[in-house]
Amino acid sequence: MKDKFIYGNWKMNGTNADVKAFLKAVDKKSKNEGVRAGLAVPYTALETAVKKAKNIDIIAENVCWAESGAYTGEISIPMLQEIGVKGAIIGHSERRQMFGETDETVNLKAKALLNADMITVICCGETLETYEAGKTNTFVANQIKKAFKDIPAEQARKAIVAYEPIWAIGTGKTATPEIAQDVCAMIRDTLGKIYNKTVAKDIVIQYGGSVKPANVKDLMKQKDIDGALVGGASMVAEDYIELINFNK
Ligand code: 13P
Repeated sequence: MKDKFIYGNWKMNGTNADVKAFLKAVDKKSKNEGVRAGLAVPYTALETAVKKAKNIDIIAENVCWAESGAYTGEISIPMLQEIGVKGAIIGHSERRQMFGETDETVNLKAKALLNADMITVICCGETLETYEAGKTNTFVANQIKKAFKDIPAEQARKAIVAYEPIWAIGTGKTATPEIAQDVCAMIRDTLGKIYNKTVAKDIVIQYGGSVKPANVKDLMKQKDIDGALVGGASMVAEDYIELINFNK
């Protein structure tokens, strides 16, 4: 059995002081067989997080595809590496909806991160409108095909895909384990067609959207759900501890 990847995403929340207090409370309880714990925090708190975390992969919430140059306001992979950050989330729906992230920029970022051997969490997921129109599979499969365009199999197999239906983010409405499983299976099938079954099996597929201690176990039981990307609940130390110890 492969490890379950339980990652938090603090979004635009948390000071250096918050991160320090959180990791003091959490890190001792983060060593857990069968689970890889991770946490994405704002750029300004990354260095503190890296220094304080022992058993938690610290990643950024976004990254630029270019190494340096005229990209005002952006942060590059070498800049993250300089302070020990292990990877980044890319293509989060909030970045797609509010900050102009596209399938093309997600692909550029995925290539740059995988080339640099960094943890690469590629987000995908449909709006409520797409879901209600019954077009989830077509929409998400297309996001996956575009995100992985021209990425060789030996790099693709190290990627993490996070399926986050937009209608379930921060709404308290979790996709049922069955719905989440169906879409994650479809994602794996799509990856299998792009590459092959072995590569598709290696790729970690997380579910995200209102994951909390009360529903994490049922979600993690699903065959094609290899982990979770957690927003709100990942900022509460007790909840985060429960989430990363869901298998005990
Ligand atoms: P919530 O867990 O707050 O619904 O957020 C999910 C998310 O967007 C994680 O990236």
